[in-house]
Amino acid sequence: MKAFVVDATWDPRPDYEPSPSEMATRKALIGSSVWRHPRADFREVETPEPGPLDVVIKLRRVGFCGSDLHFFETDADGYISYPGLTRFPIVLGHELAGDVVAVGARVTHVRIGEPVTIEDMIRCGTCYPCRIDQPNHCENLDEIGFSLNGGFAEYVRVPARNCWSIASLRQRLASEAELYDCGAMVEPFTVVYNALVHAAGGIRPGAFAVVHGAGPIGLASMAMLRACGAARVIVFETSEERRTLALAMGADSAHDPRRGAAREVVDAETQGLGADLQIEAAGAFAHTLPLMEESVALKGTILVIGRDSAHANIYPEPLQVKRATLVLAKGNAGHGTYPSVLRLIASGRIDPRPMITAKYPFVEIAAALAASGARGHGKILIDVA
Ligand SMILES: [Zn+2]
Ligand SMILES: [Zn+2]
Repeated sequence: MKAFVVDATWDPRPDYEPSPSEMATRKALIGSSVWRHPRADFREVETPEPGPLDVVIKLRRVGFCGSDLHFFETDADGYISYPGLTRFPIVLGHELAGDVVAVGARVTHVRIGEPVTIEDMIRCGTCYPCRIDQPNHCENLDEIGFSLNGGFAEYVRVPARNCWSIASLRQRLASEAELYDCGAMVEPFTVVYNALVHAAGGIRPGAFAVVHGAGPIGLASMAMLRACGAARVIVFETSEERRTLALAMGADSAHDPRRGAAREVVDAETQGLGADLQIEAAGAFAHTLPLMEESVALKGTILVIGRDSAHANIYPEPLQVKRATLVLAKGNAGHGTYPSVLRLIASGRIDPRPMITAKYPFVEIAAALAASGARGHGKILIDVA
């Protein structure tokens, strides 16, 4: 089969000593400290066969993620900027939808022909975090599209337990094309659901909320906040295109943070009370944390979902005075998150379609990569078939 394969050179930075397990598996926990000089091309690779508990999916649609882009962005020494779990060579792509075309002998809950999306995080099930039901913190994690081959290919092999049927979305959507579009959009909403509902404990209906950053995670946050009953969703985003998208995804107002006066904006729109919830979805802590500190409400929450490899300063005093909470979240695995997001989309409470700003054919992945680097888009999808 044809696949878009990314390769890089294993060359740990002088100040990074890989653990024995990283050496043995060539699976780097902090990719940006180990891998350099990324390169990508289309290759003919072996079509995957399912193991006893696996399925093989024929890809239809695959979303382009900010983390995919970080595999190609390099620093002055040529190291990739993605700071998480990585193994090369790799087929990227973890936001995907397609049809099951083969199932292993012991698979029971998925059938051939089923349209599915996948949970990309594969937990081991036996480490301490897994045994205390914290699958997002598995110590032996594998991730489809990061450490195992993902969706920028004709077929992908996935454990059956990571598959979720998207057939229920048909009740809302006019075409099979939209079914796969929306199936590939589920993953970013699961990241937000995990952070907002499981990590932060949700919001009170009627809450005031601020979202910093209107990339895919920020845009998904706005829709989720509306679905959870937020009274007002205020957005700060530097890109004008993304501010327009924010309004389409449920924001009540969208502002350019570079104009200053963020606190005045929040005060004016929250009756001077500040925001009960502040979401960091920009991955720009040095810029966003000070804004969040000064305009969080009494007993408010700052929820960090964005990723940033930089250290950041926090000024605790105003947060103590407001008895605020700082919540840091990662992942999207387990906790019934996928079925919950699928129900929200199937019921029409959340509509991911306005976020989709471009679709590229499979052979034009390189062009999609270049377009996503400009950061004016919502979600870019690759139309595999
Ligand atoms: Zn993603
Ligand atoms: Zn585990």
